[in-house]
Amino acid sequence: MENIVELHEVSKVYEMGSEKVMALNNINLSIEKGDFCCLLGTSGSGKSTLLNVMAGLEKPTKGQIIVNGQQVQRMSEKKLAEFRQKNIGFVFQAYNLFPTLTALENVEMPLMFKGIPKPIRQKKAALMLKSVGLGDRLNHKPSQMSGGQQQRVGIARAFIGNPPVVFADEPTGNLDTRTTQEIMRLITTIAKTNNQTLVLVTHETEIAGFVDKIIYIRDGTIEKIEIKDRLKED
Ligand code: ADP
Ligand code: MG
Repeated sequence: MENIVELHEVSKVYEMGSEKVMALNNINLSIEKGDFCCLLGTSGSGKSTLLNVMAGLEKPTKGQIIVNGQQVQRMSEKKLAEFRQKNIGFVFQAYNLFPTLTALENVEMPLMFKGIPKPIRQKKAALMLKSVGLGDRLNHKPSQMSGGQQQRVGIARAFIGNPPVVFADEPTGNLDTRTTQEIMRLITTIAKTNNQTLVLVTHETEIAGFVDKIIYIRDGTIEKIEIKDRLKED
């Protein structure tokens, strides 16, 4: 299988005055095309830092990150922004929607950066929102929607450009148990349908039940990787 994400000897050190925090300590990791995996670990173990360096949101202090064949850590900000638009979707724990924009406008945003004309992107965004169950909320602003609905908008926005990799950082961290199940099913169904790779971060073992591969993170290192045997279930 082809690797879609590779990390070679990646470290990230945060310097706060004279104090240094080693958030990532010499990480080597490969994620294959089509993998559904999660980074599981306690708070402060380095999960978000690891996800952010993979997604090009943060630069590593040391090491190489290859996403879809390209070295992410070497790119200029401009190149990185273009690369992210083409290759990466990101779902945030706190949704990170633009508060003054409607659901439709939020989902249209990635297509706007791609230069897709307004009528086409409106049509696509409306279809995408319909597919996440929000066909009747197109003109609602984030403050007029529940947490679960806002996250559905966040998911629609992450998936609309059909990026090969989608990263999600504690996507259900602010949601109740039932909504968590719905959102997890939604993310995994869309990703599976489109043959996308999914990397999500969680500290909850129940969430790990939705993925095929669990990468255990501890003190900025990979403790172990567990690959589930799906053959028995299919
Ligand atoms: P997790 O997502 O697993 O809770 P993080 O990746 O957010 O963990 O953080 C890993 C470690 O790095 C923690 O000790 C945290 O305090 C530290 N850290 C994270 N971000 C920063 C930052 N911007 N500046 C300084 N320290 C940070
Ligand atoms: Mg985190």
